[in-house]
Amino acid sequence: MRLIDFVGPDKGWKPRWNKRVGTYCSPRCGAGCTRAAWREAFQAGKALAEKMGTGWKWVVWENLGWHYKAVKGVVEIYPNIRHKNHQLKIIGYTCFINSAHQYIGDGKSASLALARALLGATRATDKIMSDIGAAGNG
Ligand SMILES: [Zn+2]
Repeated sequence: MRLIDFVGPDKGWKPRWNKRVGTYCSPRCGAGCTRAAWREAFQAGKALAEKMGTGWKWVVWENLGWHYKAVKGVVEIYPNIRHKNHQLKIIGYTCFINSAHQYIGDGKSASLALARALLGATRATDKIMSDIGAAGNG
């Protein structure tokens, strides 16, 4: 039996809902992720996107658990989650700006992570513009 016969045409990354045991997990993940964990990630991602404002969307994916991020164009914000006493706790956020270069910002809040990433991108852009201007004035 080939692997594709086992996992199906979705390459094994489509979660299957097993109502009997409450799992919502794909064969390729295999961690036994729960429907409740998916719902939690979906709602937290939606809340983060709504908190960030206009144009923000959220993405939920599975890889040894359900995860989420908020996305707007080339900007992505991920929660930094730690496990403590069987509880998930958000200890901050990381923002990635994936443009010509990647700029990263961390912060206790998603807004602070975004502001720090934007500051790095702005400083780099200012430096490039300054260098281009100096080279062009020769
Ligand atoms: Zn899973």
